[in-house]
Amino acid sequence: MKPKFKELILASYEFEVYNPIQTKIVILHTMFFISIFMNILFIFFHLFVTSSYTILYINIFILSLSLYALYLLREKGHYNLAVYIGNGVFFIAFIALPLLKNGEGYTLIWTYFFAPFAISTLGAKRGLIVSIFFITIVLLLTYYGMSLGVNESFGIESYVRFALAHFVMLYIIYAIQNNSEYAERKIEQLREKEKSEIEVLTKLSITDTLTPLYNKRFFEEIFPKQIKKAQENKALLTFFILDIDYFKQYNDTYGHQKGDYTLIQIAKILQKVFYHNNTYLFRIGGEEFAGIFLHKNITETYILSKNILETIREEKIEHQGNPDTKVLTASIGIYVKHFDDDLDFKAIYRLADEALYIAKNNGRNQIKYA
Ligand code: GH3
Ligand code: MG
Ligand code: MG
Repeated sequence: MKPKFKELILASYEFEVYNPIQTKIVILHTMFFISIFMNILFIFFHLFVTSSYTILYINIFILSLSLYALYLLREKGHYNLAVYIGNGVFFIAFIALPLLKNGEGYTLIWTYFFAPFAISTLGAKRGLIVSIFFITIVLLLTYYGMSLGVNESFGIESYVRFALAHFVMLYIIYAIQNNSEYAERKIEQLREKEKSEIEVLTKLSITDTLTPLYNKRFFEEIFPKQIKKAQENKALLTFFILDIDYFKQYNDTYGHQKGDYTLIQIAKILQKVFYHNNTYLFRIGGEEFAGIFLHKNITETYILSKNILETIREEKIEHQGNPDTKVLTASIGIYVKHFDDDLDFKAIYRLADEALYIAKNNGRNQIKYA
């Protein structure tokens, strides 16, 4: 983030993304630019007009450190270091100036600028402590001696006014900064809350309502992306559809609710079989499941699909309505896509579905490849 001089002068710098620290960076830039500009002016002024060389040295000191801090800020991105140098320079300079001039020539006026700078760059709390420290030194110095040099009218009344003005300034700047920091924290909390709510909603929108698998909506979204990924990685893509055998009879025998429970059980079996693979698992219809995974070796497809049917059989979920086995079984249709065939996801889906149909006609409880 490098605001231009013109943007700073016109106070028109636009943030790409808002972040509280960026406001501080802009303030730092502004202060350093102004400091550099004014100190160059004062150097010429004291060199050729007033010939007060002690002040000239202070101007050179402020100028060089402001330049250095600006360089750290813009070129190195060392924000914290720039803040410390900035505060250190202004702390010393704004006390040294009136001290050297013995309070003459309105040099004391610069002491008012310290609190706004310190509080806005160091933050409300730390800035307040540093500013109180600064103002205390200024007030002590003006009380013991410097006030004598200002002129005779700088009596006790002027002194009290001077001290009050400092504290009023301090209070206003502190209140502004503290409130805006509070508001920033609130906004940040809201942002975090929104973010986690969006995450929950996103998860919900792609998850099946019954099982922990993905839903059909996500299936249609991710399938084309996986096809593209397989092509890029020169990988095989296995797509399978699994349909439970005689599930209508299952519902008729055990009731719809038990049927739902069994669907969840099947979903968990699929998760168990594929737990170590990056496989997308879906429930794409009532009792129809699907999976997509990328791999290099065709034997993975054979092993995993065989595993699914075996694990379902091993669960021995009773199914008296299944005339063949009396336990719950399923049929699978598979299409393995080579990376250089250019079928789209609808074509792949159709092929796997046709294979499933053949598996059903062939006696169920088996795997068929398209
Ligand atoms: P097939 O072996 O040919 O697949 O026979 P099937 O009875 O399983 O036939 P099909 O696949 O057409 O049956 C779908 C049945 O699945 C219809 C319905 O009773 C049941 N079903 C669909 N969705 C749900 C669901 O969400 N919960 C329950 N419990 N049953 C469902
Ligand atoms: Mg079906
Ligand atoms: Mg079925």
